[in-house]
Amino acid sequence: EDSTIDGNSFKGHDMLAPFTAGWQSSDLNPLVIEKSEGSYVYDINGKKYLDALAGLWCTALGGNEPRLVAAATEQLNKLPFYHSFWNRTTKPSLDLAKELLETFTASKMAKAFFTNSGSEANDTQVKLVWYYNNALGRPNKKKFIARAKSYHGSTLIAASLSGLPALHQKFDLPAPFVLHTDCPHYWRYHLPGETEEEFSTRLANNLENLILKEGPETIAAFIAEPVMGAGGVIPPPATYFDKIQAVVKKYEILFIADEVICAFGRLGTMYGCDKYNIKPDLVSVAKALSSAYMPIGAVMVSPEVSDVIHSQSSKLGSFSHGFTYSGHPVACAVAIEALRIYKERNILDQVNRIAPKFQDGVKAFADSPIIGEIRGTGLILGTEFVDNKSPNDPFPPEWGVGAYFGAQCEKDGMLVRVAGDNIMMSPPFIMSPEEVDVLISKYGKALRATEERVKE
Ligand code: PLP
Repeated sequence: EDSTIDGNSFKGHDMLAPFTAGWQSSDLNPLVIEKSEGSYVYDINGKKYLDALAGLWCTALGGNEPRLVAAATEQLNKLPFYHSFWNRTTKPSLDLAKELLETFTASKMAKAFFTNSGSEANDTQVKLVWYYNNALGRPNKKKFIARAKSYHGSTLIAASLSGLPALHQKFDLPAPFVLHTDCPHYWRYHLPGETEEEFSTRLANNLENLILKEGPETIAAFIAEPVMGAGGVIPPPATYFDKIQAVVKKYEILFIADEVICAFGRLGTMYGCDKYNIKPDLVSVAKALSSAYMPIGAVMVSPEVSDVIHSQSSKLGSFSHGFTYSGHPVACAVAIEALRIYKERNILDQVNRIAPKFQDGVKAFADSPIIGEIRGTGLILGTEFVDNKSPNDPFPPEWGVGAYFGAQCEKDGMLVRVAGDNIMMSPPFIMSPEEVDVLISKYGKALRATEERVKE
């Protein structure tokens, strides 16, 4: 696999734990969650946990938003299901497409296609891009470039795009048409004396070299999360996306923004693309689209891509792709209501009100001797535990430093994500300032306990 990896790649410090959804068996003694309320969830024993990850970076409106429940109930009573094949569809699906396209303003998006998940959205992107290039008579422009440590999902193609070794190993992945370029993690990968801007320039040059080596006529698209999520919460270094976009554009390579985590306000902007001035050709969303109350994802495509696909479809046959539950009316009804709530409650203002408290409060612990870096923006934050404050001195994996921290949080009534010695948090948008204080205090308590444990 490493032969497909360029640049900084995976230099032996992939401390990210496996991405398993878990076999469903009570023998494994899972934590069983039964109920949610605002920023909290409760287990079957009634214990209360602050949900610092918003489920899996997704329950933006928290646990019991009655309007989402009402939207689902109403739609279930009226029309629980109809499909969206052969130019048949439902009103919620059409309405959501229109509303969703209006939320994206970083570049023009012309059409939306619904999926059930982020993984399916990214798989759909690959087929769309191939279809587009076939329509343009360039069937060899097929390869995708993604980045080391990215996460784009778990289906075969989305896992291939992802840059996490655990998703490739023992699965014969990535697929041969997927290449990986550098992870833009400045703290870990910058050279001595290199500024963030210089680091970004170097990464853009590496990307260009990879494209030239492979042949620009073979590279179809580049895919990126505005802020990398599951790879450890990695915001882009200064000037990164400007420089990357210039390279991609130069070689007529489409830009796919994977906004599955960032979209709808998590970074304090409607999309990550707004924050980093990314002008993508294609966009993937999921998660907060319905605040996770129903499974739904979507791709949006630019007018250029849409025009080619639609004008050429008579020659190629229609874009033969879709899922039984594409545009599921109940999921769409819930998503429409979620978008309405984001707008009516000025969710960006709400996020921007609590984000500085969240960021500053947690980052105040950055001088802990066991923390290498705390990084994030808006309502997403990663902590990386290392020895000697150095990215090159990981703790021995058998110490389980991250796992210990996570267990302390759980014991104290807070759920975070642990991946090796990375801790990730992405609270619901509706978290109150008081709840942010609780989060910070529980974080601090777990950190002190973990420091003690490491000293032993
Ligand atoms: N893309 C990103 C950036 C994600 O974070 C995720 C899930 O965490 C996915 C895609 C996959 O989405 P799903 O789990 O809905 O298939």
